[in-house]
Amino acid sequence: MNIVLFGPPGAGKGTQADNLVKEFKLIKVSSGDLLRNEIKKKSSLGLKIKPVIDKGEFVSDEIINSLIENIVSSKEFSNRLIFDGYPRNLNQAINLDSILTKYNQKILCVLNLKVDKDIIVKRVSGRQVCSKCGLTLNKYFNKKSDHSCDSKYLETRPDDNEKTINNRFETYKNETLPIINYYLKQKLVKDVDGMVQIDEIYKKIRIIIDSLET
Ligand SMILES: [Zn+2]
Repeated sequence: MNIVLFGPPGAGKGTQADNLVKEFKLIKVSSGDLLRNEIKKKSSLGLKIKPVIDKGEFVSDEIINSLIENIVSSKEFSNRLIFDGYPRNLNQAINLDSILTKYNQKILCVLNLKVDKDIIVKRVSGRQVCSKCGLTLNKYFNKKSDHSCDSKYLETRPDDNEKTINNRFETYKNETLPIINYYLKQKLVKDVDGMVQIDEIYKKIRIIIDSLET
């Protein structure tokens, strides 16, 4: 089975992807990892894209698509893919469909992790790390009794502020909407409530997969 996973930053998407990888022996495919891998291997493609990435620019869809085709066409990975952070735009989504069709595969479902922006903001902006014992806490969700060091040791990461998180969330929403709509037309989208405990989220994902596989 091939799965596409969507979820805003801070929704715990990575954890759910890891769960699926472990249980179903899937291969996680993220375009960022694929690109970093080529650079590490110093392949001809890697040498070509390194300066682009170093400059902080986007690699062309053409290059991403050819990397994805390498994975999809490989017998070893065939029908065992979980796409995370890809497709990033409509063009990539359309291309993924044609690559999958070419190799007689399809997408089982598109899991859409849904979390309220307010919760994400609290989860991320409330994060505090104790510089004394290293514990990570959340000023909104943890009780005082969870931690015994003096509060002067609690530090917040500078990029964890509300404005940055709000921006990241809005960017995600705007970028993802057209892709979600594209998959909605194919009746592939399964919304998953991401507001509950991590274990509960995964249980819901399992129920969806079970219902589709039979
Ligand atoms: Zn501490």
